[in-house]
Amino acid sequence: MVWTRQPCNMSVRLPSAFISNNAGEIAAILITVQTVPKDMALEIRTDSQYVIDQLTKNLGKIEDNGWVGVENAPLLGALVATLRIFSAKTLLAKVKGHSGEKGNDEADAKANKGVKKSLATALNLQIPPNLIVTGMKLSTATQSIVYKGIISRAIKKNCWNTDIMLDRVKEFVKDWTNHSPTDEHIWSVLGNKNIRRNVKNFIWRGLHDSLWTGRWWLNINGFERRAECFKCDTIESLEHILTECTASGQKEIWGIAEKLWNKSGHKWPEMTLGTIMGCSLANYKDTSGKPDTGANRRFMILVSESSFLIWKIRCEWRISQGSDLSKIPTHTEVVSKWVQTIGWCIHLDILSTDTKCYRRQATSIKVLEQAWNKILSSDNIKGLQFTDITRVLVGIRVWQPP
Ligand SMILES: [Zn+2]
Repeated sequence: MVWTRQPCNMSVRLPSAFISNNAGEIAAILITVQTVPKDMALEIRTDSQYVIDQLTKNLGKIEDNGWVGVENAPLLGALVATLRIFSAKTLLAKVKGHSGEKGNDEADAKANKGVKKSLATALNLQIPPNLIVTGMKLSTATQSIVYKGIISRAIKKNCWNTDIMLDRVKEFVKDWTNHSPTDEHIWSVLGNKNIRRNVKNFIWRGLHDSLWTGRWWLNINGFERRAECFKCDTIESLEHILTECTASGQKEIWGIAEKLWNKSGHKWPEMTLGTIMGCSLANYKDTSGKPDTGANRRFMILVSESSFLIWKIRCEWRISQGSDLSKIPTHTEVVSKWVQTIGWCIHLDILSTDTKCYRRQATSIKVLEQAWNKILSSDNIKGLQFTDITRVLVGIRVWQPP
């Protein structure tokens, strides 16, 4: 969908909220202007008269009407705000579609590739606060526009990036379990008492795509370099940190988590952003075909805690160590942190069975055994101490499946 003379050509699949030709045209320009330096003179060549009109002759009216009733308003709003940051001249040129123009033909080819992608790409639709033009010019607004504005604001539930993330989780969970979860199912993770509050907060921000990574920084003058992962030489994203980065410890952590999981005999799925954000929706079955609640609970705790640890390791390296390449945590350090974290979670789970302390809120011993017995190989799980648990977890490193 994007083709430029700069090396940033790409194919992108838009989220379901933006499936239209016009949305594709706006998104292509948006991604380009968010990627190139903000002092670069731009010549945007598009075959979309619609985009040119929206950015030029219609823009005044759109802003007077407070963006009410505007098709693809979140995309167009982000594009207008980003273009306003540019310090050099920006030129919009109309080219004829399918006329043999190299850039236009290449962009068409990229667009065809993009629609075949299985997962939508998260777009940065954030607008810096000083560039948000809010409200309606009441002196020119018609009664019908005011009414539409009130209705559209009343029914809006999620922001667009949240919808994209929810789409990704649904797609993953459907492939994994053959069931398509509703938004409510996905959000129910936040009410789960088996996940610690800090971890829930991380998942909540992940689902809203509101953790400060990568593209969020590209719109902030003077802070653009914070968008990059200096180790992998790419624009950072939550997906990059949790599933691709070579500095966040993700490879080591998912490797040892998978080894631990394999002791239970269940299949470990591919770790994607959808898997991680939808970890509370695991649907493992026991040998008689009934839901294996112990495995589902174990998966949720393992994946949510491991992903939060990866995020913390990344933040420590980026913020406390200033992204110093010589201070990337070693394999041993990462595994040791994971053993401490997961060991502590299991230990807390064991303590939560104490009916004197927790009374009716106490975890039943049966639930505890279902979750951890197989992988801890213990006859007396309630008697295990923290050091006993970490000893088993350290042993996982050398454990091989039978
Ligand atoms: Zn990286």
